[in-house]
Amino acid sequence: MRKFKAVQFLAVSLLLIQLFIPYAQAAEVQPDPEMFEGFAGKQPVYVYASPAKNAKIIKTYAYGDKIAYRNFSADWHATDVTVNGKVQTGYIAAGDVGQTVPGARGIALNEKTNIYSQPSVNAKILKTYPAGTIMNYQAHDAEWFRTTVDAGGKRLTGYIYRPDVETIVTHPSAGSGFAAKIPTNVYASPSAKAKVIKTYKQGSPLQYHTFTSRWHEVTVVVSGKKMTGYVSKGDVGDRNTQLSGYAVNNEAAVYSQPSVKSQKLKTYKKGTLLKYKVYNASWFQAVVYVNGKAKTGYIQSSDVGAAPTLKGLSLKNPTRVYSKMSRSSKVLKAYAKGLVLTYKPVNNEWHQATVTVNGKKYTGYIAAGDVKTIIPTGDTKIVNPYQVYSYNEMVRDIEKLYLAYPELISYKVIGKSEYGRPIYAVALGKGKAAALIHGSHHAREWLTTNLNMYMIEQYAKAYYKKQKIGGFNVYDILNAATIWFIPMVNPDGVTLQQEGLKAFPKSLHKNLIKMNKGSKNFKRWKANAKGVDLNRQYNAGWKTIKGSPSGPMYKNFKGYKPESAAEVKAVLKLVREVDPEMAVAYHSSGKIIYWNYLQTGARYKRDHEYAKKLRSLTGYRLVYPKGVPSGGGFTDWFIQAKKRPGFTIEICKYVYETNPPVSEFKHVWKENQAVGLYVARESAKLAKK
Ligand SMILES: [Zn+2]
Repeated sequence: MRKFKAVQFLAVSLLLIQLFIPYAQAAEVQPDPEMFEGFAGKQPVYVYASPAKNAKIIKTYAYGDKIAYRNFSADWHATDVTVNGKVQTGYIAAGDVGQTVPGARGIALNEKTNIYSQPSVNAKILKTYPAGTIMNYQAHDAEWFRTTVDAGGKRLTGYIYRPDVETIVTHPSAGSGFAAKIPTNVYASPSAKAKVIKTYKQGSPLQYHTFTSRWHEVTVVVSGKKMTGYVSKGDVGDRNTQLSGYAVNNEAAVYSQPSVKSQKLKTYKKGTLLKYKVYNASWFQAVVYVNGKAKTGYIQSSDVGAAPTLKGLSLKNPTRVYSKMSRSSKVLKAYAKGLVLTYKPVNNEWHQATVTVNGKKYTGYIAAGDVKTIIPTGDTKIVNPYQVYSYNEMVRDIEKLYLAYPELISYKVIGKSEYGRPIYAVALGKGKAAALIHGSHHAREWLTTNLNMYMIEQYAKAYYKKQKIGGFNVYDILNAATIWFIPMVNPDGVTLQQEGLKAFPKSLHKNLIKMNKGSKNFKRWKANAKGVDLNRQYNAGWKTIKGSPSGPMYKNFKGYKPESAAEVKAVLKLVREVDPEMAVAYHSSGKIIYWNYLQTGARYKRDHEYAKKLRSLTGYRLVYPKGVPSGGGFTDWFIQAKKRPGFTIEICKYVYETNPPVSEFKHVWKENQAVGLYVARESAKLAKK
């Protein structure tokens, strides 16, 4: 071989010197009769147009490919390459091809990549590897690689079918780019099914080394440790790569300069699909049209991301969910107009929604024009607490609050009053920990409903405006906890107190008047409409309640049995369902806080601490234990049965047997504005214990 090369080299050199004929032509003129066949010994092996590494690459071979060549010089071999249908001579670095070549590393491409005992797919399978496994092997023939495997402690020769693997580049080159996908995953091995060891935000700069045709290799730091990971080439872009993402914040702005202080050229609603290029890690560059003129603008990378979950109102009757992004595709489901639907934007024409049909979940599509996405701004003015706040007003406001803040507020009916009025519970917040607040156990104390309802709206507004209330971070608290409100536990009683007999069927009047000691003025009414005092119903010291009338009465009758009133059953049902960490029962009047019911030791101390904080927030007086407590109240029961902190807060200056005046509300709100937030925050802490 060596000798032959030298002779060949000499011959060609002479030719060159004499005739100055280009290499390619020279080879054609003097074809080498000695042909060899060898393997490509690297990944990849290039064939150059002339024998120089900076020459044009006219063909690329993969490691293990069979190549026919002839000797050309000490450093180069020549080979025939067909380019555009014409055969021409190409040049391969002599070390890149040979009968015996160095081993290589490659990755398994199939989820079951087999190692066979013989170079045949029908041979015995010695071992199977998952996609992404990195393996060592040696070129064997045109179709097979050879490797060794451990089988039962023995080293065996095995064979890998070439299409089952891809050889890793022999000389990786360093590169840099940006994470193009949302998010860009780094996998533990070069397979999309491998474990994700790190994710990069779109636009993050990436440094990598080339690896295979589909993967780059990256070094990442995972919990303080340097690791090798793999990123899909398609997920890496450069400054010219067109990226896309959705506006994740309301009013995502495109600025004239990469600065929030610069002029806003345009704003986009949450969920709008946007296209842009990377400017730097914090800013993307986008072309926007302002008055028909294209302008380059800048958008904060934090304003765009993966498709956000949106809530919107169905506009059509029916609003259809299609199986494909086409109105002519199959209809999976149809909704009535006016409902709140949940979906994610796909593009600016279609949304994606998950629907359940016959118990099975399907992905469907809603035309963007068939729904109106609700984007809360925190600018609502729904609850007016300066009025005699009726049950019907409350029901209307609950629906309005839900429609204004559907991702933060939900509601459900937890039962019906004795005379069939649905009892509503409203959930406010996104956190797992639950707190419970309720009002109007007692009919004449309906100003507590005004407080519950106003609190819901003010907290929702502050959440979206990212404002604090009484120093409490509403946004963080409502992300950590959910406050369940039952704004009006006793809707029958409240309605009777506010509207009198006319709100009830004639057949009941006689008995209502009797329970009201002969009076047609129901302003002092405290019980439910059946004359049961709902806050003397709970099964905590119920048997020993003192001063209970022998039968139904406008106040104080504890009932014939504990927890027998429909309204109390509804409250207990919700407590079972949401398992609140803390509870506040709002009553009026007197500006005092009840916080103890026979608890001792650590629980007494713990609850006392909470009570003292509530005292400092409200300015109300704490009631300390003396003698035998009366019992039967919600808070008594909650403290005793749940062994959790419960508080009865009596709002307003003391009024005798009537409702406090609505004019009191401005003081009530000032004193109680932080109570729900404090209780929610502490509930989140308790839930972690
Ligand atoms: Zn009360």
